[in-house]
Amino acid sequence: MPAPASLRVLELYCGIGGCAAALAALAAEGAAAEVAAAIDVNHLAVAVYRHNFPHPAAVRTLESLTAGELAAFGGDLWWLSPPCQPFTRRGLGRDLDDPRTASLLALAGRIGELRPPYVALENVPGFAGSATHARLRATLDGAGYEVRERLLCPTELGVPNRRRRFYLLAARRGFVDRITPSLPQPLSHPQGGRGAPPPGTAEPARMPLRPLAAYLDPAPAAELAVEPTLLDRYAGAVDLVDPADPAAIASCFTAAYGRSPVRSGSYLIVDRGPDGLPTAARRFSPREILRLLGFPADFTLPADLSLANAWRLAGNSLSVAAVRAVLAGIPELAGAPTAHPKVPGPAPRPGATACSSGDRRPEGRVMPG
Ligand code: SAH
Repeated sequence: MPAPASLRVLELYCGIGGCAAALAALAAEGAAAEVAAAIDVNHLAVAVYRHNFPHPAAVRTLESLTAGELAAFGGDLWWLSPPCQPFTRRGLGRDLDDPRTASLLALAGRIGELRPPYVALENVPGFAGSATHARLRATLDGAGYEVRERLLCPTELGVPNRRRRFYLLAARRGFVDRITPSLPQPLSHPQGGRGAPPPGTAEPARMPLRPLAAYLDPAPAAELAVEPTLLDRYAGAVDLVDPADPAAIASCFTAAYGRSPVRSGSYLIVDRGPDGLPTAARRFSPREILRLLGFPADFTLPADLSLANAWRLAGNSLSVAAVRAVLAGIPELAGAPTAHPKVPGPAPRPGATACSSGDRRPEGRVMPG
């Protein structure tokens, strides 16, 4: 019998390759998928992508791609992680009026035209219910797609790091029955509007939380230390987590981590005074953040990438565990064990340059059917 054809994925707004990492994990478990092309306008992000993945990766604006160019990739699945600033408070939430939405609207037009078998999108929760969301839905609905949407946070998958995101998965044929086991319907909706679970619907089972300490560098770099004056100045506003606390959960790391001390990600408590109050703290390293995001042990950052840029790129990326859970809703990828994020193993060796999630075999399915 011939081997089943590999699912060809277009990784749009690819960044450093969060979707590629999720596909690699699914492929390692038997799913047949390959990235046909990865595209992003940011040359630094594409450099990190190329440093880690052999897939063709291009620095382009997505709105500059013609229908002919997009069709030539032969993508079965278009994965989209468009910029989130138009849908965040910090980014002023300008939605359709934000120029950063233009590329997504252009792609929505191409989706209506070319109708790839599957479309997936990741964004901040504020995307749900936006006018841009409504436009995309109108295109997908008009082109005959079945659409599933949900919010998912890696903490639901046992990862001690908040990153609640909106995920959309759309399929043209034969999707509903087969997707049900991994993306239960109806999917939750942030504003309790369309797609909100009916009263009494059980939340998907949560995985036990793994300790934050399992994700930390054994010998953190001195440059991660937080200036004591900053701790004083932002006391109460900085989110401090204690690595000795097995229930500690780091807040969402954003692209502003390292620049803005407030609401851009947690800091780690390094020392306490006699009164028990924190007296020293440090930032998470980019590798620690990537580990929390679920990037594999062999994912590395180029040696010439600055700390500031590494934080920015990691903060823009994806929860690989959550993406795996979403992608497992695609019939061609569902054969593989679903996206149970792997259990961290021993901490990486001092001096190791790779990110480590200390992967072991997955132990079960994320979401019961
Ligand atoms: N999912 C990615 C990151 C997505 S963040 C990862 O895993 O790293 C959004 C990305 O969209 C950024 O990398 C940004 O450079 C890219 N981007 C923004 N506008 C774009 C446009 N018009 N064309 C192509 N890429 C764009």
